[in-house]
Amino acid sequence: MQLKSKALIFGAILTLIALTAIQGYLIYNTYELKKKTFTVDARNAIAKVYSAPEVDSIMWLYRNDFLTQLEAYKNNKLSKEQVLFQLRKKAEAVNLLFIDRYEEGMAASGFDADVKFRKTASYIAISDSLGNKEVLLGANRQDSILLLGTDFVEEGGILINNSTWTIDHDYERSGMQDTFFLEFKSHIHMNILNWELAIVKELSGLLIISVLLFVFVVGLLYYSIHNLLKQKRIAEIKTDFINNITHELKTPLSTLSLATKTLTSGHAEGDAEMTNEAIAIINRQNIRLQRLIDQVLQSSLGYKQIQLSKEAFNASLFIDQVVEDFKLSLQNGVAIEKEIDTTGVLMNADTFYLSTAIINLLTNAIKYGGTRVVVTYSIDRAKNSHRITVTDNGIGISEKYQKFIFDKFYRVSEKDTHNYKGLGLGLYYTHQIIKAHHGSIYVTSKERKGSTFIILIPIVS
Ligand code: ADP
Repeated sequence: MQLKSKALIFGAILTLIALTAIQGYLIYNTYELKKKTFTVDARNAIAKVYSAPEVDSIMWLYRNDFLTQLEAYKNNKLSKEQVLFQLRKKAEAVNLLFIDRYEEGMAASGFDADVKFRKTASYIAISDSLGNKEVLLGANRQDSILLLGTDFVEEGGILINNSTWTIDHDYERSGMQDTFFLEFKSHIHMNILNWELAIVKELSGLLIISVLLFVFVVGLLYYSIHNLLKQKRIAEIKTDFINNITHELKTPLSTLSLATKTLTSGHAEGDAEMTNEAIAIINRQNIRLQRLIDQVLQSSLGYKQIQLSKEAFNASLFIDQVVEDFKLSLQNGVAIEKEIDTTGVLMNADTFYLSTAIINLLTNAIKYGGTRVVVTYSIDRAKNSHRITVTDNGIGISEKYQKFIFDKFYRVSEKDTHNYKGLGLGLYYTHQIIKAHHGSIYVTSKERKGSTFIILIPIVS
């Protein structure tokens, strides 16, 4: 059973982990897929804007200007740097037109993420009719000129196009017709800002449902495991209870059988002492059996079924009396001390039930190894309650069991505690009695040092 349920829990947790991993993988895949479609969508939106005839005419504004600058360069009227400077300046001016057009186009495309566009010239060379080539830009790899769009760092961008504009340009050089061949390489990059956020936003429905499902499955699993363990514990407790009660019944029954045998066998005939002793044994065992049965019967009572007949009485005197009466049944070697305050505050309770509760605690204190038991009574002003404590120097209760000891049928099942007889009902019943009085009971204990049970009964004014 132990192994089976452990395997079951282990299996369930493993399955949950596997399911979570699969779900995580699927979400990741969807994310990657979205990312791809997102890039393709952005690219398409850009292509649409960029290929519009207006953009083409905007580009010709700097191109025409640049060709004129090159003619001046060829005629030695401008230096290389001046040509590039002019190109930069012209592109800057033209770019303003482009940016307006671009923003309009992107807004119209319905693509809602912020996509930056950048077109840069990276290589410009001219060759003359004899094939002599001059590189104006791009000899140095870092050189580039922003033509259109907004500048951004290279790592954030995705290259979407490389293009080369080539033209054989006729011009007049020192009064003579000449031609130069232009090679003008440019790159287009795009950069989608906050695209992770935009995708997560798109996937938010899926993510929320996944998280909810996950929480639901974890909750279900937790609930099932919790229930399984609870059922297992109940089953164990019931088995323990049956073993305990069989064990408890065996001793009085065999003693009874011996005593009746003595009486019926004729051995005791004419021996008054023997007869009386046998009868006394029968009586004692009878009482013991009755007590056992009472205990089992009482245990079926919850605190709501306990019918209290309350009265107001002097608690100091009452507790003193209960302890004194209990002392009469004590064997040698056990000392019970009292520290009872004379409070003068009346207690409103059922004396029969309350004494049963205190006697249960005293019986346990001695049963579980106490040789010195201290009973105290005082008023707990902070809690506005009567406070009764029973402290022993017995075997104590390990902290991990303390929260269970008031449960029905619960017995601490450590190896050495098997030696103590019981049904696991005493503290349960005591707890029910105190609850019926709207009070509380709790324990503080240290293993091998002893335990203190504290009862608080509210003061009723
Ligand atoms: P029972 O004594 O019949 O087993 P109880 O309900 O009275 O049942 O007690 C429940 C468990 O709490 C006991 O089995 C015992 O392990 C533990 N216990 C109760 N009182 C004490 C005590 N004074 N010292 C140590 N252990 C205690």
